[in-house]
Amino acid sequence: MAHDLYSRDAAAIGNLQKLRFFPLAIAGGKGARLVEEGGRELLDFSGAWGAASLGYGHPAIVEAVSDAVANPAGASILSGSNAPAVTLAERLLETFPDRSTHKVWFGHSGSDANEAAYRAITRATGRSGVVAFVGAYHGCTVGSMAFSGHSVQADAAKADGLILLPYPDPYRPYEGDPTGDAVLTLFREKLAALPAGAVAAAFIEPIQSDGGLIVPPDGFLRKFADICRAHGILVVCDEVKVGLGRSGRLHCFEHEGFVPDILVLGKGLGGGLPLSAVIAPAEILDCASAFAMQTLHGNPISAAAGIAVLQTIHREGLAAAAERKGKLLRERLAGLAERHHLIGDIRGRGLACGVELVRDRNTRQPARMETAKLIYRAYELGLVLYYVGLNGNVLEITPPLTVSEDEIHQAVDLLDKAFSESATVLDEVISGFAGW
Ligand code: PMP
Repeated sequence: MAHDLYSRDAAAIGNLQKLRFFPLAIAGGKGARLVEEGGRELLDFSGAWGAASLGYGHPAIVEAVSDAVANPAGASILSGSNAPAVTLAERLLETFPDRSTHKVWFGHSGSDANEAAYRAITRATGRSGVVAFVGAYHGCTVGSMAFSGHSVQADAAKADGLILLPYPDPYRPYEGDPTGDAVLTLFREKLAALPAGAVAAAFIEPIQSDGGLIVPPDGFLRKFADICRAHGILVVCDEVKVGLGRSGRLHCFEHEGFVPDILVLGKGLGGGLPLSAVIAPAEILDCASAFAMQTLHGNPISAAAGIAVLQTIHREGLAAAAERKGKLLRERLAGLAERHHLIGDIRGRGLACGVELVRDRNTRQPARMETAKLIYRAYELGLVLYYVGLNGNVLEITPPLTVSEDEIHQAVDLLDKAFSESATVLDEVISGFAGW
């Protein structure tokens, strides 16, 4: 499967921005399918890491973006207003419970959005401390890495006053406590050791994605937010990967019956175009001295795509559909677990699904190499999906929200075959790919 495009890519584009698991060379896409150079079709159950929320080439995005390109309302929001950006901000605020007190900031990526949120919060509150979680991936800019806890960012400079807490993982519980209460106790102890008012904000993914697609125990987020509020700490939900319908609700925080102070969105918001947003109290986002503006922020073409994404999620009932399809997906995966003993845990909400692979179900020893081989074989068979997690042993399954039930069956059948055949993938083949 050596593609000319892949070789040209190797020669012309730096490894700095490559996270490659197999030699995928994409020529096009339609719905949940990618077309490789040479014409082979693959089912994309990574959904471009969740960015392809409506799949590839959805007519609503094609139409909205074509119109916006043909008649562009400038290029940004910096020096003048433009209708797509203002309309998208209004539509986003309509989805947020505290709409009358909040405003919107637009960026291109999850990284710039988290960084802008952090800069604006610390500036506006005059506090510098920040809470985040081990395993959290909030971005790749210097600012967003400063409060991320993923192992790939281990050598990045960390923010002064950063408190990193263990993420409550029911499968690998901190201090053996699957309820997550031990994490909350640790949090209280850490806060008690600090002067009052030291901490500005707590960043939390309501499902920790790149850290291993971990769903926290029921009630954890609410209890965590209560502690934050008692200390005047703003709660920031980073829903860059699991927001906008993927979890089975429009916003993932809705599962927990609480409302964060600040919401960060990205990936699926642009439906494949670069777009992110922060929804935050006006006094935070009016803090111009934080200086978080780039030339194309509030770009009307990306904003037009964002409006189309929101409208389509609403019109096609994609959040409820994600809940239904996710249930089917996990039922089918549970069937695989009866035959394939590498499967240690199946978890998720809606179409954000994780499958943790272990060498032994009792010891739960992570099956890192086996995971890399499995997704390589899946790719050879025509299924694209990636792995996440600090041990590189969790399949992340985040197909487009528009995926059909038929495609879910096809993907699970391919995965079944890949489990049976992955041992045939040679170590040398895998070693050519960096993965995480
Ligand atoms: N937040 C979360 C939860 C993410 O999963 C990611 C990317 N994986 C980011 C932020 C960074 O987003 P981007 O890659 O668009 O900068």
